[in-house]
Amino acid sequence: MKAWVLHDKNDIRLEEREIPVPKRGEVLLRVGAVGICGSDIQRVFVTGAHHMPLIPGHEFSGVAESVGEGTDPSLIGKRYGVFPLIPCRKCGPCLQKKYELCRNYDYLGSRRDGAYAEFVTAPAENLIPLPEKVSLEEAAMLEPLSVAMHALLRGRPRKEETVALIGLGTIGLMLAMLLKEEGITPLCIGNRMSQSKKCQRLGIPEEDFYNVRDGGALSWLAERTKGRMPEVVFECVGKEETYSLTVDALSPAGRAVLVGNPASAMGLSQDIYWKLLRNQLTLTGTWNSSFTGEADDDWHRVLGLIEEGRISPKNLISHRLSLPDLMDGLTLMRDKREDYTKIILSLQPREN
Ligand SMILES: [Zn+2]
Ligand SMILES: [Zn+2]
Repeated sequence: MKAWVLHDKNDIRLEEREIPVPKRGEVLLRVGAVGICGSDIQRVFVTGAHHMPLIPGHEFSGVAESVGEGTDPSLIGKRYGVFPLIPCRKCGPCLQKKYELCRNYDYLGSRRDGAYAEFVTAPAENLIPLPEKVSLEEAAMLEPLSVAMHALLRGRPRKEETVALIGLGTIGLMLAMLLKEEGITPLCIGNRMSQSKKCQRLGIPEEDFYNVRDGGALSWLAERTKGRMPEVVFECVGKEETYSLTVDALSPAGRAVLVGNPASAMGLSQDIYWKLLRNQLTLTGTWNSSFTGEADDDWHRVLGLIEEGRISPKNLISHRLSLPDLMDGLTLMRDKREDYTKIILSLQPREN
């Protein structure tokens, strides 16, 4: 099979590899579609992966080709989305089915081989069967959408609350999409005018978008909320300035959900720190997504929304590439050569 193998940081090569053999409890999947995640840019060009050589790619879908020993053969031939985190199922969080908090997990595409390849193996327990209406491309977006859903549920904004969203990268836009679906129009703070258009396509009016580069985001929020300020803020950037803006912007007893991965040290000035205390703010972290196999986990919620046509994540696909073009997609994102939202590698004929 063809596979992109990461040998070292900044050294990824398209190679011919043996098709992997599914072990006990595992399934061999023919990859249908795989998304490029921002974390792959770091992994491939900056940090490398935990174990190398490694095939990256953790946002994917596929069709079951064969199964390992002890795995139900009726899975073969069906289409699946795949939860990339493989929990130990023994640690404290795992025993409470909080697999995203597992202390000793394995991970497709960062700790073991992922889906920048024609085939990949995954535990049968990590598969989510796809309804007819959901395409393999959409299913490749279940992972980032579930991350956004997890963040949403960590904040649990109510309809009557004012919500602000800082950062409109892929996860930020997905969160905006989910908030809209909940009947909440967030006040959006981005750093590019192209994001204003993207927000408008999600049904967010132009006047609810503000470009942080114009300065004065705080006074804009004050004006838009008639001085009340947002009760919930989602920080989807991970920079000191936006973290500080988040704390500064919250109304008394407000809640922040910290979503963006920190780009460097995240400090607060004394003034802003006082606000945490005096305004009795709640800061909540969010990590990954929940996949318990039950109808109310993040993955099943998101899949349900796509199936019912309540969200249309395929509108967020800005680029469709084939497997050999991975490097183009990676460098496009690294160098920000073009505007993008989600870049998907499609390995099978498009279904819709
Ligand atoms: Zn990702
Ligand atoms: Zn565990």
